[in-house]
Amino acid sequence: MCEPIVLSLICSQCSASLKPTDEHCPQCGIAIPGPLSVQTERADTWWQQRSNVLAVLFLVLAVFGLFWLWKSDAFSTKAKWMWTVVVIVYTALLLWLTWLAILYLATQIETLQAI
Ligand SMILES: [Zn+2]
Repeated sequence: MCEPIVLSLICSQCSASLKPTDEHCPQCGIAIPGPLSVQTERADTWWQQRSNVLAVLFLVLAVFGLFWLWKSDAFSTKAKWMWTVVVIVYTALLLWLTWLAILYLATQIETLQAI
């Protein structure tokens, strides 16, 4: 759950990386005034990648499910339409929930960074 967020401290003069305890830049020697400029390096985290995979999976399942449904002779046309609506609503709901989860986690991470 806890993906480490990489925070690197960068010299505003020469962009050398600094330790939080540095008072002068080890590369150019400039005095570091007040709060250091903080640069965030954040790649797509595992949950973003997995959410994307899940969303694609839901869509593929829905498409294949509907394809199979309409090819099948086991259902009447009325039943096929009913299942088509069910599958579409179900898929839309799953995609919506996935999207909500992404938004929620993104908010959590931004809160974490603001501290
Ligand atoms: Zn420097």
